[in-house]
Amino acid sequence: MTLSDRILMGPGPCNPYPEAVAALSHPMLGHLDPEFIALLDDTSDRLRTVFATANALTFPVSATGSAGMEASIVNFVGPGDVVVVGVNGVFGGRIVDVVSRTGAEAIAVDHEWGQPIDVQRMLDAHPSPAMYAVVHAETSTGAQSDVAAMGANKGDALLVADCVTSLGGVELRVDDWNIDIAYSGTQKCLGVAPGLAPLTVSDRAIERLRPVPQSWYLDLNMIAKYVTGGGARAYHHTAPTSMIMSLHAGLGAVLNEGLDAVRARHQAAGDAVKAGMLGLGFELFAADGHRLAPLTSIVIPDGRLGSVNESGVRAQLLQEYGIEIGGGLGPVAGRVWRIGTMGHTARQRNVTSLIAALTDILD
Ligand SMILES: *Cc1c(COP(=O)(O)O)cnc(C)c1O
Repeated sequence: MTLSDRILMGPGPCNPYPEAVAALSHPMLGHLDPEFIALLDDTSDRLRTVFATANALTFPVSATGSAGMEASIVNFVGPGDVVVVGVNGVFGGRIVDVVSRTGAEAIAVDHEWGQPIDVQRMLDAHPSPAMYAVVHAETSTGAQSDVAAMGANKGDALLVADCVTSLGGVELRVDDWNIDIAYSGTQKCLGVAPGLAPLTVSDRAIERLRPVPQSWYLDLNMIAKYVTGGGARAYHHTAPTSMIMSLHAGLGAVLNEGLDAVRARHQAAGDAVKAGMLGLGFELFAADGHRLAPLTSIVIPDGRLGSVNESGVRAQLLQEYGIEIGGGLGPVAGRVWRIGTMGHTARQRNVTSLIAALTDILD
């Protein structure tokens, strides 16, 4: 089997849209070439459409989704601030770590894994935090949280939403939902290779920018001049031009298909995975009514795999059928699988292949 036959249904990179792959072989553009600057502007416009925002400061951070997380925190909080963080999986836990490193006080509101964020518990955690942070789509558990309800009740605080596994896969309306800062990654539902972190920041958040954040590279005071400087753009860092061309093309594919159609395709593929896995005798992990379409978390019932251990089944799927799925993380390692149907991967034909391969292996 060749590598190009691989079906990436894990929680990490999905198969990129063909348009995004093709863009990587375009002739190189210099990062200050007016043609590149125009492409960067157009990429930001496309991101505004996908994020559903009018925020001027919307652009791809030159690093993976985690840099989007860090930029969303370090630019706005520091010693003396309180940040209430919803923790219902690995990524909420990481936000707590990032917040703590700024010297701000992180109040972690812990939830059982697989459950969505409880907005009332977030509000009860502190009377006047500087910021709330929640993960819209917890890739470690397959649970989706109600960010709109958080935005409607946040009061004066800033609201940060981790949209790494939701952008381009499930409904997300940054402006309508009162999200102040949202970040994502290219390799999940946007269907592009890993390497960029789309970020959008409201004018309300910009008013609270720290003058000297605890990061030079992610300092939005400087980057804003580069990405929204009009004629007065100044060099800040060398933009990863080929990756931005690829993101531009991937967003083009998404917008050509239409955001509603893309979401419906993610929903249909996620539903098909859930139905297929239930049919094979597996159970669903995330709480009913809060299950993500692009990432289905499965509980492996005792004895279902016979004498083979779960990592052995995943290895066989990869080696013999070219299909990658993900294992469980942290407290659910060895007990849970995570199956991605993201971006270009979110298609019935991939689900059919996975269910047939598992049937071959297990029955
Ligand atoms: C993947 C992911 C991240 C981290 O993104 P990287 O591109 O791996 O740095 C953050 N949050 C969530 C919810 C994710 O799924």
